[in-house]
Amino acid sequence: MALDAETFDALIDTVRRFVAERLRPLEADVEANDAIPDDVTAEMKAMGLFGLSIAEDYGGLGLTMIEEAKVAIELGRTTPAFRSSFGTNVGIGSQGLVMAGSPEQKAEWLPRIASGEVITSFALTEPDVGSDSGAVKTKAVWDGQAYRLSGTKRYITNADKADLFTVMARTGDEPGGRGVSAFLVPRSLAGVSIGEPENKMGQKGAKVADVMFDDVIVPAENRLGAEGEGFKIAMRVLDRGRLHISAVCVGVAERLIADCVAYASERKQFGKPIAEHQLIQAMIADSKTEALAARALVLETAAAKDAGKDVVMESAAAKYFASEMVGRVADRAVQIYGGAGYIADYGIERLYRDVRLFRIYEGTSQIQQLIIARETLKRGG
Ligand SMILES: Cc1cc2nc3c(=O)[nH]c(=O)nc-3n(C[C@H](O)[C@H](O)[C@H](O)COP(=O)(O)OP(=O)(O)OC[C@H]3O[C@@H](n4cnc5c(N)ncnc54)[C@H](O)[C@@H]3O)c2cc1C
Repeated sequence: MALDAETFDALIDTVRRFVAERLRPLEADVEANDAIPDDVTAEMKAMGLFGLSIAEDYGGLGLTMIEEAKVAIELGRTTPAFRSSFGTNVGIGSQGLVMAGSPEQKAEWLPRIASGEVITSFALTEPDVGSDSGAVKTKAVWDGQAYRLSGTKRYITNADKADLFTVMARTGDEPGGRGVSAFLVPRSLAGVSIGEPENKMGQKGAKVADVMFDDVIVPAENRLGAEGEGFKIAMRVLDRGRLHISAVCVGVAERLIADCVAYASERKQFGKPIAEHQLIQAMIADSKTEALAARALVLETAAAKDAGKDVVMESAAAKYFASEMVGRVADRAVQIYGGAGYIADYGIERLYRDVRLFRIYEGTSQIQQLIIARETLKRGG
């Protein structure tokens, strides 16, 4: 259910001030330490950010998709690792449970996910299974009393601190996604182990690691939905996640454009601010136009989703366009800053590296193109 307009405006205002006054001054520290400070995490929990998308009945804020997108745009205006720290709880780590969980499963986990007491991760990718995600090799074999889960998941966001994993594993012989089921797997179960965090190009402060399952005994009541429904659940989770990521891309682009305007108005060459040179203005115009287009696409798709429409194609289009758009905006930002754009102190090169991930995870740009084409052909235009 949507918040009343006044409450929602107050939330946006609080998040905007939190980003500007609390988070932005910490960006360089997060990069240097590759960690979000604990007190900031505690403040984000207190603000309800870990439960943005979880129903009020379970202690979340119960935002609609368009409300969540607007909050994600605000959070995009700072280093993406802050959002990533609660992003799995709001998105891919909890939405399988929200969409397909039983009342008992929801009651057991959702209140603690919404408060941030329990951190979640979504475990689909494997060493040999990436874009072809229906081909998962991790196995969950029924032994008459419980499932025995074995396999390795790769690049799992927030695995280092996750308490609960949504794991896609093969339970049947059916080919591709039809043989895949989804499970809630607490980290505390015997046989679950976490690898060392990977060294990444950007998004310092957000960790990814392997998650290993070595003959983990998973009770039947931990299965999400029916056997064989896991891949469908994962795809529905990603449809929603893609919209959230698109909104973050819009926020980062808007922040970069504001930074470029400020810098270009100050920096003088040939006797005047570089903002007065038309070739600089052309870059600002291109970035602004593309950011506006992405914002419109994201918000219109979010509204359509809230209205119950099928937005598989539109979510993929939003992710494809917004993630490619922010890459171009970041590239132009480096150019507008000139040498300073390449120097770490100015923070532009950091965002340039950070945004590169958006074209890769939750489905690469190529996979979004395939979805857009498939759905458009199916719809006849
Ligand atoms: C920082 C980070 C965080 C991540 N977090 C998570 C997470 O929390 N949970 C999770 O499950 N996964 C996560 N992932 C994994 C991510 O979703 C995958 O990396 C992504 O889906 C691509 O898979 P891949 O890396 O195996 O690339 P591949 O699938 O091997 O793709 C390599 C290249 O081939 C292209 N390609 C593949 N198939 C086709 C095709 N049919 N047509 C045209 N081109 C194609 C791809 O677009 C890409 O350019 C994360 C990854 C990173 C880097």
